[in-house]
Amino acid sequence: MDSFPWHRPGALLVRAVNWLGDAVLTTPALGALRAACPQARITVVAKPLVAELLRHHPDIDEIVVYDKDGRHAAALGMLRMAGELRRRGFDSALLLQNAIEAALLAFLAGIPERMGYATDARRMLLSRPVAVTEEILSLHHAEYYLRLLSLLGAPRPERPRLALRVTEDEMASMRSRLAALGVPEGRKVVGVNPGATFGSAKRWFPDRFAEVADTLSEEWDMSVVLMGSVPEMPLSAEIEAAMGRKPVNLAGRTTVRELMALLASCSFLVTNDSGPMHIGAAFGVPIAAIFGPTDWDKTSPWTDKARVVRVDVDCSPCRLRECDRGHECMLGITAEMVIAAAREFMADAGGVP
Ligand code: SF4
Repeated sequence: MDSFPWHRPGALLVRAVNWLGDAVLTTPALGALRAACPQARITVVAKPLVAELLRHHPDIDEIVVYDKDGRHAAALGMLRMAGELRRRGFDSALLLQNAIEAALLAFLAGIPERMGYATDARRMLLSRPVAVTEEILSLHHAEYYLRLLSLLGAPRPERPRLALRVTEDEMASMRSRLAALGVPEGRKVVGVNPGATFGSAKRWFPDRFAEVADTLSEEWDMSVVLMGSVPEMPLSAEIEAAMGRKPVNLAGRTTVRELMALLASCSFLVTNDSGPMHIGAAFGVPIAAIFGPTDWDKTSPWTDKARVVRVDVDCSPCRLRECDRGHECMLGITAEMVIAAAREFMADAGGVP
C-alpha cells in the first residue's frame, strides 16, 4: 500500500473511538498525525463524552459531536451525520474506531480517502485498508493506534505520549471547589477511583480501597478524594463509611471536564482499570492500577509513573463483565499489595510527590 501524502495539507476527519479510556490511548496517535501534517485542519467526530474529553486538545482544530443517543440515533441519524460531514468537504478520513459503521459514515460523507484497519468486514469501504496482523493485535492499545499511523506512512514521533488538556480556569475552579470542601490550595490529594464502567469483574473491593486510602493519606499527609460516575456512587459511599479518615466524596458530582481537572490535581491515584486511570496517566499522575480480568499488558496505564497490581490466575484475562468463577483475580489482591506498590513507586521516584 502507498503511503498517504501527509505533506499535502487538507481537511482531515478523524473518527474517534467510543470509550473514554480508549480515547486517551489514541492521543499519541493524534500527536503523530499532527506532526505528520502540521498544516492540515483536523476535525474529530466523537460521541458526546469523548468530545468533552478531547476538548482543548492541542492536536485538534475542531470537534463534531456524534450524538447516537440523540439527534444522530439509528440509521436516519447516521445519514444525517453523513450529510453534515459531506457539507464540510473533507479530503480524507482516519478511522481510529474499528466498526464498519465508521467506514460507512466516511463513505456516505463522500470522503475520498478513507484510512483505517481492515476490521469488521469493512475493507471494501476503505481506500487505504491496513491489514491487522497477530503481531499488531498483541500490541498495547496506545501502540496499536500508533502503528496504524506508521503503516500509513506517518513518521513515529521520537517520544510519543498521552496528551489531554485542561484549562487554567478549569483547574482554578476545581481548586476552589476542593478548598470549599476542606482541601485547601497546596494540600496534596490521593485520588481513589473504585469504579469501572465495563462491569463488576473489573472492580476491586470498597473495604480494601478504604484501607489503602486511610494508610496512604496518613503516611503521606494527604487528603483523599473519591471519584466516579453516578452509578458508582454506592461504591464510594461504602468506601467513605469504611474509612477512618474523612474523605471528600465527589463521585457522581463531576462532569467529564471536572473529573479531568480533579485527576490533574491528584498527587497519587489508586484505581481500577478504567477511563479515569488513563486520564490520570495522561496528566502524569503516579498510579497504583489494580488489574483483574483485563489484558494488563495491552491496557495498562501508558506511562512510567504507574505500578500495575495483579495476581496470576489461570482464567485471566477473561474480559468478562461479571465473574462466574469466584473472582480470584481480585480477591487475591490485598490492600497490603497495593500499599506496597504505592510505597515502592514513591521510593523509586525519590519520595512523596
Ligand atoms: S473469570 Fe477469572 S479472570 Fe475473569 S473475573 Fe473471574 S477470576 Fe477474574
